[in-house]
Amino acid sequence: MRWSESCIPTLKENPREAEIPSHMLMLRAGLIKKLTSGVYTFLPTGFRVLKKIERIIREEMDAAGCQELLMPILHPEEIYAESGRLKSFGPELFKLKDSRGRIFALGPTHEEVITIIARDEMRSYRDLPQTYYQILTKFRDEIRPRYGVMRAREFIMKDAYSFHADDDCLDRMYRRIEKAYRKIIERCGLEYVIVEAESGYIGGNESHEFMVLAENGEDMLLSCPCGYAVNLDKAAARVSDGRRGEALDPYEEISTPGASTIEQVSEFLGMSEKGIVKTLLYKAGERNVAVLVPGDREVNDIKLVRVFDDPDIRFLEPLEIETVTGGPVGFSGPVGLPEDVEIVADTLIRDFEGMVAGANRADTHLRGIVAGRDFEIGRFEDLVFAREGDLCPNCGKGLASSRGIEVGHIFKLGTKYSSSMNATFLDDKGKSHPFIMGCYGFGVSRMVAAAIEQNFDKDGIVWPMSIAPFQVLLLPLNTGDETVMKAALRLEEELAGAGLEVLMDDRDLSPGVKFKDADLVGVPLRITIGRKIKDGVVELFHRKTGRVDDVAVDAAAGKILEIAGIKG
Ligand code: ATP
Ligand code: MG
Repeated sequence: MRWSESCIPTLKENPREAEIPSHMLMLRAGLIKKLTSGVYTFLPTGFRVLKKIERIIREEMDAAGCQELLMPILHPEEIYAESGRLKSFGPELFKLKDSRGRIFALGPTHEEVITIIARDEMRSYRDLPQTYYQILTKFRDEIRPRYGVMRAREFIMKDAYSFHADDDCLDRMYRRIEKAYRKIIERCGLEYVIVEAESGYIGGNESHEFMVLAENGEDMLLSCPCGYAVNLDKAAARVSDGRRGEALDPYEEISTPGASTIEQVSEFLGMSEKGIVKTLLYKAGERNVAVLVPGDREVNDIKLVRVFDDPDIRFLEPLEIETVTGGPVGFSGPVGLPEDVEIVADTLIRDFEGMVAGANRADTHLRGIVAGRDFEIGRFEDLVFAREGDLCPNCGKGLASSRGIEVGHIFKLGTKYSSSMNATFLDDKGKSHPFIMGCYGFGVSRMVAAAIEQNFDKDGIVWPMSIAPFQVLLLPLNTGDETVMKAALRLEEELAGAGLEVLMDDRDLSPGVKFKDADLVGVPLRITIGRKIKDGVVELFHRKTGRVDDVAVDAAAGKILEIAGIKG
């Protein structure tokens, strides 16, 4: 391929809209072009990378025994009403009307469509198990499209769905897909961790995310050298502080004028925030609930929604707090709350011998209160965010925090969709059961950005060989020089003939510009054909290590094939 005949619109300047390196580099290296917010074209060079990733994914999904199909993008809205997801998708669902006024959605994912296929086509346990996958454009009206193709409104996903008669069979497929995903990411040359994940609105029980590690990843992780890793949204806080707080018999009232935040109370009493109990009042469904957490911890809203089974759970308004507790905001506590207020405590509260908490009266706190004696805790739940230094549940060491980009997500859905959409099969006794399902997503277009986010330097992209748009860049410096061009053409023929993807920068531009573009686009191997060609010598440059070697032009192709792992 000749650069002069290609569309590789490189940019010298950093585009202002780009917030993270991969976004900036994809625009600057001419891999993508924005049409509008969250909507991008993959230009030819970017598309080459995308196709390589797709190919690796196809090979591994096929090897795992999955069947490829192609489902429609246009979905009648009713199917989301049937599954009950109209509400949970909310504004993320792109909708449009046909000429008869019927409403359609652009597919954000395909659980509904595939469940309808299973419902109609698989009747008996003999038809099971089945696993399908597709690679298709998805549409989601993301609240905050950003980072280019990393979080787009139109993006390419590989999604797979499996149907089983029992949980063991689902578990076997789940493990197979997990293995396939590991191989996909490893073949793309990226470092990753697998984390236990929160299942989010797709529902179900077991769920894992595949995180490509990168400083600018959107996801916060906690991980341990023992191999344990977890998404911060899901991690349970475990500490080794032992018993804390002091019990007093009886508890005492202390005047804390103006001290309505944990910080102020801690300062006022000269004690650490973790010895104080924060009492938060919420409306969950029709009930008022009081949530107790250590003063130095934050409540994780995702856990809250799950524990109270209410996606609309909210804080009580200041006036409501006064009505319910009798005291103003900032002075709530568990002692003396009305009977109908359920008190739910984070599991860390178990460690408290005695507590300091609000008195439900202005400018007053209570010290030395004891659960079970002065008030009753209805139940203990995991409610707060874990953080760096909390203990690994596997080995007890302190967890470290890092960041990752979610490229894959696998779920055991169980019967969530098959039950709501009445998709059943008959067992060997003729009894009807809903299918047991799994679903497995992989962000194909996001993977391109994730690969760059893990592989770049100050000069540009540093592609892993397996997904590089080209493996070799030929750089004749003076395109007017006949010896230079003759050597370049010969190398092109030798390398392309051996099956390598070769890009030749045949543009009549200054060496400075050509080197800058070469580094930016990040082709792994480069042969510079310059003045030394009169002695039969070219320069071989390795983009990742920066190593430069003089090699005889006659030996250059052989050397490249050796490095690229191809036998000449
Ligand atoms: P996220 O938490 O990042 O929004 P999600 O939980 O909504 O992801 P899934 O529904 O599990 O994602 O989709 C499967 C995969 O599709 C994700 O793991 C991710 O790699 C990719 N993906 C999801 N949303 C986007 C998007 N807006 N742009 C690009 N890729 C995406
Ligand atoms: Mg999402």
